[in-house]
Amino acid sequence: MKSQEIRSEFLEFFKKKQHKIVASAPMVIKDDPTLMFTNAGMNQFKEFFLGNTEPKYARIADTQKCLRVSGKHNDLEEVGKDTYHHTMFEMLGNWSFGDYFKKEAIAWAWEFLTEVCGIDRDTLYVTVFEGSNDADNLEKDVEALNLWKEIVPESQILFGNKKDNFWEMGDQGPCGPCSEIHVDIRSAAEKAKISGASLVNNDHPQVVEIWNLVFMQYNRKANGQLESLPAKHVDTGMGFERLCMVMQGVQSNYDTDVFTPIIREIETITNSSYGKDEKVNIAIRVIADHIRAVSFSIADGQLPSNTGAGYVIRRILRRAIRYGFTFLDTKEPFMFRLVNVLSDTMGKAFPELKSQKQLIENVIKEEEHSFLKTLDQGLVLLDTIISNNKGNQIDGRKAFELYDTYGFPIDLTALILQERGLTLDEKGFDVAMQEQKDRSRSASEISKEDWTVLSKDLEQEFVGYDLLETNVKLVKYRKV
Ligand code: ATP
Ligand code: MG
Ligand code: MG
Ligand code: MG
Repeated sequence: MKSQEIRSEFLEFFKKKQHKIVASAPMVIKDDPTLMFTNAGMNQFKEFFLGNTEPKYARIADTQKCLRVSGKHNDLEEVGKDTYHHTMFEMLGNWSFGDYFKKEAIAWAWEFLTEVCGIDRDTLYVTVFEGSNDADNLEKDVEALNLWKEIVPESQILFGNKKDNFWEMGDQGPCGPCSEIHVDIRSAAEKAKISGASLVNNDHPQVVEIWNLVFMQYNRKANGQLESLPAKHVDTGMGFERLCMVMQGVQSNYDTDVFTPIIREIETITNSSYGKDEKVNIAIRVIADHIRAVSFSIADGQLPSNTGAGYVIRRILRRAIRYGFTFLDTKEPFMFRLVNVLSDTMGKAFPELKSQKQLIENVIKEEEHSFLKTLDQGLVLLDTIISNNKGNQIDGRKAFELYDTYGFPIDLTALILQERGLTLDEKGFDVAMQEQKDRSRSASEISKEDWTVLSKDLEQEFVGYDLLETNVKLVKYRKV
């Protein structure tokens, strides 16, 4: 099945189950100071769950453009290295707002995967919340367990702890246990080597989580205590690209038709070849991933810039340019040339890519020009540092200055030094980095939640974002 059809099948399935199909919310969020980008399908329904707004429909389904590069969900460093975490991805989801609960959510998820998608039942594992012995003293999710037992052999049901199987919106608000569905995509030969069950939950790269069913049945009060919600909700999220991987019988999201046209175009433009050298493979995957994140955010109206969400987008684009520069030898702008094929592959589902194509191309091309210039200047400065240096080790503070003031990426510095038989004083670099972090982070806190419910009686002042190369973080508010 082609990815286009898989997406339609999902929406069609839930439409038949009386769900209202809605459009994806923008990926870039403009009106929520606690969240820069949509990172899950449920974000746009937050007000329903908090009880602040009455939903127009009790059942909704959609595919949502998500970006996970900051805050609680930051998958940036995974991208390219593994084959199933993206920065930008589509999350298929179905919701019940005080309507159906575990029984239907579980039965329908199973029906969709096994009957509509035809996924082999033996390859599916489900997880159930095991309960907790902490202050919450939560019981095992027996209700979900019994429902699963009716459809899945017990050997394919696993228990998970609070970290994996209990979802919370933030410090306060609706929360509840969840059941995840994982698919074992290992070959028969590999399966024979190790038994499957112990491999779920990311212990094996080919036992992949595809769907998370969250059952919101509690409310966490301001004092930290849980109370039962009068109206219970369902919130599910399934990775579209991962589902395509499973359905198309391939071992990597990048081998699905969501990505192959983009990868072929990268190979042509950069005269490289995917699948031979791991460093090149990673670079190609990073570029194929990042072009989506950047294009979708420009289509949403978020241009690369020096602050906030725009800065995150600029860093993502620069990261891709750098991978090309270092591993594919691209010394000219090339990313903008991928927009065409991206808009061909995804423009039908997301027309904004087609209507904004020219703008996206122009913006990316301009960014590429200016960053390539930075790279050129940085190389000259690094040459000067190297020739003035005594000994084999380069001063970490100098490298930090190059990174901090000129935007010259540190891993590129390290790579060039390595090629010249030199080393980097990493300690010195870390110290300089830490000093800078301390300066910008003082009196502010880091967001680790999907969002935070701001206390009304606390006066707060926005202090901006702290965005670092390896760890994009959102610094929120300082109490005043
Ligand atoms: P993982 O454990 O693989 O990081 P998760 O538990 O963080 O996933 P959820 O927050 O439960 O993910 O999101 C619901 C679904 O979205 C997941 O089951 C997965 O299929 C998909 N998903 C999550 N993160 C990504 C990502 N970075 N790229 C692609 N798909 C993702
Ligand atoms: Mg994750
Ligand atoms: Mg997970
Ligand atoms: Mg999950």
